[in-house]
Amino acid sequence: MSQLYDRVALIGLGLIAGSMAHAMRRGGLAGEITGFARSAETRAVAAEIGLVDRVCDNAAEAVKDADLVVLAVPVGAMESVITEIAPHLAQGVTVTDVGSVKRAVIEAVAPHLPEGVTFVPAHPLAGTEHSGPRSGFAELFDNKWCILVPGDAPRPAVDRLGDLWRAMGSSVDEMDADHHDLVLAVTSHTPHLIAYTMVGVADDLRRVTDSEVIKYSAAGFRDFTRIAASDPTMWRDVFLTNKDATLEILGRFTEELFALQRAIRQGDGDLLHDYFTRTRAIRRGIIEAGQDTDAPDFGRAKAAKR
Ligand code: NAP
Repeated sequence: MSQLYDRVALIGLGLIAGSMAHAMRRGGLAGEITGFARSAETRAVAAEIGLVDRVCDNAAEAVKDADLVVLAVPVGAMESVITEIAPHLAQGVTVTDVGSVKRAVIEAVAPHLPEGVTFVPAHPLAGTEHSGPRSGFAELFDNKWCILVPGDAPRPAVDRLGDLWRAMGSSVDEMDADHHDLVLAVTSHTPHLIAYTMVGVADDLRRVTDSEVIKYSAAGFRDFTRIAASDPTMWRDVFLTNKDATLEILGRFTEELFALQRAIRQGDGDLLHDYFTRTRAIRRGIIEAGQDTDAPDFGRAKAAKR
C-alpha cells in the first residue's frame, strides 16, 4: 500500500488513535505520525512503546505541518481540544475526528476552524472495552465499517480520508449527522445503556451474592459485563451528546419491554415465540453480513453462502 498523508497528527492517544497508528504503520500510509495526549503519563507510555514516530509535549507542536489531524478524545473534550489547536493548523489541512456522536462534535468543532481548513467527521464502528495507549492494535478496523459525515466538505479531501480508512481495513459509508446519531442510538448507544443497567441490577440484587453472579455468569450476562466495562468518560459523553436519539430509542425499547412483560404475565407463548423468531432472523442477517467475525457460527454462515 502507499502513503496517503505526509504527516498525521493524533490528538488523544487511546484505543482508537493507537489502533490507527498501528494500522497506518502496517500499511505504510503516513510519512510521519505525531501524537499528543493531555497527561504526561500517557505521553510517557506512548513514547516508551513507540506508538507514534514523535510524541509531542503540546498539541500545537503535534499539529504543526500536519496534513491530517485526528481528534481522538472523548466527545465532550472535542471543543476544548480544537480551541487549543486551531491557531496552529496549516492551510489546506484536513481535520477529522473519531467521536461516537456526530451532530454534537460538528457543533463543537466547526465554528472554531480557520479558513482553509477542511473538516471531515468520521466514526469507525470498531472498539473494545479497553482504553489507553497500550490498548490499540492494527487489526481493530479490519472488516468493520467507518462512517464519514462529510457535509459539504470538498470531495478530494473526503475521498482521501475514505482511502485511508479503506487502507486501514474498513469499508466506508457516508451519512448525514442526524441519521448517523439515530442509527448508532439503535445499534450501539442504547444497547450499551441496557448492558450498564443489567449489570447494575445484578449488583443491586442483594439476594444474589457477588460470587454467585461471577460463578454462574452464563454467556448472556457475561457479554453484558464486558460491554458495561467500557470507558465511563466516553460513554457519559455519548449519552449527554446523543440525548434526543437515545431517548427516542429508549422510549421504544420500554414499550416493547412492557409488551413482553405483559405476554409473560398472561402466559402468551405465541407472542413470545413469534417475537423471538423475528429477532433470531436479525441475528442471522448480522452473521451472514460478516459483522460478527467472533461468532462461533461465523464460519458456518460463510460456508453456507459459498
Ligand atoms: P481512550 O482510550 O480512553 O483515549 C482517550 C484519549 O483522550 C486519551 O489519550 C486521553 O488522554 C484523552 N482525553 C480524555 N479526556 C480528555 C480531555 N478532557 N481533554 C483532552 N484529552 C482528553 O478513548 P478511545 O476509546 O480511543 O476513544 C476516543 C474517541 O473515539 C471517543 O470520542 C470515542 O467516542 C470514540 N470511539 C470509541 C470507540 C470505542 O469502542 N472505544 C469506538 C469508536 C469511536 P489521557 O490518556 O492523557 O487521559
